[in-house]
Amino acid sequence: MPVNGLAPYDDSNIFARILRGEIPCKKVFENDFALAFHDINPQAPVHVLVIPKGRYVSFADFSSKASETEQAGFLRAVGQVARQLGLDEPGYRIISNMGPHSHQEVPHLHVHILAGKKLGALIVGGTEPPP
Ligand code: 5GP
Repeated sequence: MPVNGLAPYDDSNIFARILRGEIPCKKVFENDFALAFHDINPQAPVHVLVIPKGRYVSFADFSSKASETEQAGFLRAVGQVARQLGLDEPGYRIISNMGPHSHQEVPHLHVHILAGKKLGALIVGGTEPPP
């Protein structure tokens, strides 16, 4: 079910549990600021999630509350993961869903890195009004 990206942080969310090592992930990268792992339900040949180490519900939460160091470290980590995966050419897409209209499902900030084929239009059905 889509989540409210402004809700208080829930320490039982699935990505918090992955960060604590309580459930496994297929890790591709980790440093002080971020953990990256393969999405369990890939939507493209390459579908990796990058999450900050800190307790942030969404991009809105992170961009308003995280320190400059955390924000810079996380942004750099996203680029580093893409480079490490060899995606700079011919390119990739990064997406971060925030709140119910975006269909955010996990209430811990995550950036999707999608690649490995021509990804097509950014938004399918983009002119349809929300339900
Ligand atoms: P959202 O809709 O919140 O932007 O994306 C959540 C993503 O997390 C989805 O693409 C979903 O497949 C992925 N996901 C949900 N649970 C797990 C899990 O336990 N492990 C991994 N690796 N990915 C997950």
